[in-house]
Amino acid sequence: MDKIFRGIMKYRCTDRVRMVEQFAEVRNNPVPKAVFFTCMDSRMIPTRFTETNVGDMFVVRNPGNVIPHSQHFLDEYTTNEPAALELGCVINDIRHIIVCGHSDCKAMNLLYKLRDDDYSSKDNRRISPLRSWLCTHAFSSLEKYQQLEISGYHNPLIFQSETPLRKFIAYIDPDDKFALEDKLSQVNCLQQLANIASYGFLKKRLETHQLHIHALWFDIYTGDIYYFSRQNKRFIEINETTVDMLSEEVKKYYS
Ligand SMILES: [Zn+2]
Repeated sequence: MDKIFRGIMKYRCTDRVRMVEQFAEVRNNPVPKAVFFTCMDSRMIPTRFTETNVGDMFVVRNPGNVIPHSQHFLDEYTTNEPAALELGCVINDIRHIIVCGHSDCKAMNLLYKLRDDDYSSKDNRRISPLRSWLCTHAFSSLEKYQQLEISGYHNPLIFQSETPLRKFIAYIDPDDKFALEDKLSQVNCLQQLANIASYGFLKKRLETHQLHIHALWFDIYTGDIYYFSRQNKRFIEINETTVDMLSEEVKKYYS
């Protein structure tokens, strides 16, 4: 805690005054750009690697950047993710949702191990909320990953959802650069796009192109960030060579 207290003291002397001014600006003119779902991993600092500031993004974090499918939404038994979607996209009318996964994700490493029946047994899930969370909400990612595995990691995956326009095809790590768990992390990231599109309260916005869902993937080892290009059907590194092309794609597909 001492590090946190010292940090707060430093913030009081440096950023506090400017931040309060920014809070007032945002209150008078709120224009948040995105709802950003990412993993709770301490290495993921989305406001830093996107250079965003006060008022720019609503951030939702959990183990493995998972958004439960709407089939799990049963009246009073809900998780926070769909509530966050409603707060961001309906009440605040935010038009972009971003799901950001990453390499060396502890939650994805665990999900990979949950392929083992004993590891994911009911008894083991009872004593581990994390295993239970992943078994309930991320098994669809694991199933998709297993389709990829069966094809020798060559065939594309097809992601569908209740909103047919949101169907897309993805080649996962075609250059075979990443570990198996990282390939699973990329599949999981894309599976969340389908899960988000399963919510009825977003359907009209999605079908009328008022709302768009994107995937980013952060490579912890190099600091590179990838954008899932529907046009190229794969994650493309965002860099000096690709950024204009990706911007064009976003304008073309999402305007
Ligand atoms: Zn993670």
